[in-house]
Amino acid sequence: MLDWSCIDTVFLDMDGTLLDLRFDNHFWLEHVPLRYAESRGISLAASKDALYARYQALLGSLQWYCVDHWTQELALDIAMLKAEVEHLIAVHPHVLSFLEALAAAGKRRVLVTNAHQKSIELKMSKTRLDGHLEHIVCSHDLLAAKESPEFWPRVQEVEPFDPQRTLFVDDSLPVLRAARQYGFRWLLAILMPDSAQPVRSCEEFDAIEDFSALLPGLEAMAPAAANAAQGPESVAKSTRGDPRTRPASAGRDRPCPGRRRKGSRTGPLIHGYRDDARLFGAEVALSDEAA
Ligand SMILES: [Mg+2]
Repeated sequence: MLDWSCIDTVFLDMDGTLLDLRFDNHFWLEHVPLRYAESRGISLAASKDALYARYQALLGSLQWYCVDHWTQELALDIAMLKAEVEHLIAVHPHVLSFLEALAAAGKRRVLVTNAHQKSIELKMSKTRLDGHLEHIVCSHDLLAAKESPEFWPRVQEVEPFDPQRTLFVDDSLPVLRAARQYGFRWLLAILMPDSAQPVRSCEEFDAIEDFSALLPGLEAMAPAAANAAQGPESVAKSTRGDPRTRPASAGRDRPCPGRRRKGSRTGPLIHGYRDDARLFGAEVALSDEAA
């Protein structure tokens, strides 16, 4: 399915791909309607009818993903409501093993998300996934959603990449279609974004249920990196006189052309929040399948 020798960088979606979409689905489809019904003195059914129609009207836009937009529109503190159900935020199985295998194989790991900065901050504080990423690209900073044809050219300005040598994994078919249109060679869909929902089918893209499917190929690619983990002496012996056998991980501290350095020792570079990008949201399961 993938030829890892042809892939330098991996772009990963957050909600539904690295994280369980159960949180977002429960939050937008159940929790927000509940609190909205309470605030308006209406029934839960009437609240859901009203909100689902409003969601539908904004699907695929930055506003749909914008926490501040919904806070203003619904007169509810969306960030606070998320904290009420934050116990549902969870990392999908095998994600950490996959991220570590990518590092061992010398691949650059970049989160590319439509989630609003406030959602990213909440989820990173809960999961600590940012310690396993080199960079986080937030569509709200670029003023274009991943579904938009303007998105990927803007990503190039902050995270230069070769679409022929970059793998992109996402659970949204409209997002994957936009990436295909841009020219990505390697695309993967996620078949089980929400652990509370049945496995989906996907004929249009190569797809995986979870990241365990990618581990054997990745781990087979990085035997030299395993030597590096044994210590500097063994690395020196294993690479002496032959740069071709140099462990992939050994070069990760050197700056590479077209590559960005980590923002800090403890986490990835996150582009600064812009006041004019106040469109919020989270990635919810009301995708094209529900349209
Ligand atoms: Mg997603």
